[in-house]
Formats: sequence, C-alpha cells, structure tokens
Amino acid sequence: MLSVLKHPLAEHMVTHLRDKTTKPATFRTLAYQLTLMLAIDATRDLETEPKTVETPLESTEGRVLSHQPIVVVAILRSGVSMVQPFMDIFPDVSVGYVGLERDHATAVARSYYAKLPPLSGRRIFVVDPMLATGGSAAQAIDVVKKGGGVAPRLVCIIAAPEGVAEVSRQHPDASIHVGVLDRALNARKYILPGLGDFGDRLYGT
Ligand code: URA
Repeated sequence: MLSVLKHPLAEHMVTHLRDKTTKPATFRTLAYQLTLMLAIDATRDLETEPKTVETPLESTEGRVLSHQPIVVVAILRSGVSMVQPFMDIFPDVSVGYVGLERDHATAVARSYYAKLPPLSGRRIFVVDPMLATGGSAAQAIDVVKKGGGVAPRLVCIIAAPEGVAEVSRQHPDASIHVGVLDRALNARKYILPGLGDFGDRLYGT
C-alpha cells in the first residue's frame, strides 16, 4: 500500500528541498510543485465516465471525471502547505483540518482541533509533508474514520520507514503516497537524511 513517486523531476525537487541553503520562498515553491505531482499520482484511479464533445473538426468521445467529491484533510501546521495544489487541480475539493499535540504524560498524539467537512462517500486525502514516527498521521486517520471517512489516503513528501510501518500497522486499509522514502529516524525523531523541520524551513522560523 506504499507508492513512491518515480520521476526525475521529483528527485530534482526533493534534492533542492533537502539543501539547507534553499531559501523559504524556493522551498515553498518546491513543496507546492511536489505536492501537485503527488496529488496527480494519488488520484490516478479516480473514476471517469464517457463524454462526447465537438472539437472544431468533428465529434469525439473522451472521458471526464465522474462526480466523486474529494476531501483533503491537512494536519496542522505543515500540512496546510499541501492544500493549495489539491485545490488548484480539483476546484470542488472540500478541506478539513486536524490539529494534534503530544500528551507529555503518555507521549501519544492527541487531537486538540478538528474541523472536517462531510466525509461519508468521499475520497479522502490526509496530507502531512513529513511522515516520521507515524503517530500523528495514524491519529489523524483515526479522527477521519471517526468522522465517517473510509480508506483515507495519506500523502507525504518525505517518509521514514518507521512511519510507514506504524501507519500500515494501525490502518492497513490506508494507502500511503510519498515523494521519497528516506533511510531512518534519528534519536530526536527527525528523518534522515530528511530536510530538517519542514515548518521552520517553510515559514523561515
Ligand atoms: N517533522 C519534520 O518537520 N521533520 C522531520 O524530520 C520529522 C518530522
């Protein structure tokens, strides 16, 4: 259930994202462009239906997307950077947000904020750029499922094997789409080689 982007352009963009000398403005552009590629990849099995149109020369039968509402659920805060690319290619998309924080006593992520559109019968994409331990992603998928979502897809720019394993263990029905699969987590739960703190790189904090 893991799909990794295989495209020279994606490799090129990830390498520049990783580069610590990349400035926030370029970082934001690259994150946008990579998410666009991921959004296309993660929706390759959307249903279509036949439609006849007139070209200037003749009538032809093509295919258009069937009406199947799409929802993007962003995990605060970095996930917000992945919403716009989905909205740009799927103008009717609905957007939800889930805020998570780690409980200091239990070290388990807990949802402190959730604002979700109707989820039943919709294609759901949970977005978070960095899949590290998988704790937040699994928790966000829990929130989505409790809200009526079925088989949500998780879309991330960089994933660690540990995060992929944890989400797959907790949610075997959730497919995972990533730009690149990295080596491992370090002792502080940062992804290696990774790109550092995505939110800090994005917002220049
Ligand atoms: N979140 C980040 O921003 N970076 C990591 O390496 C792991 C989680």
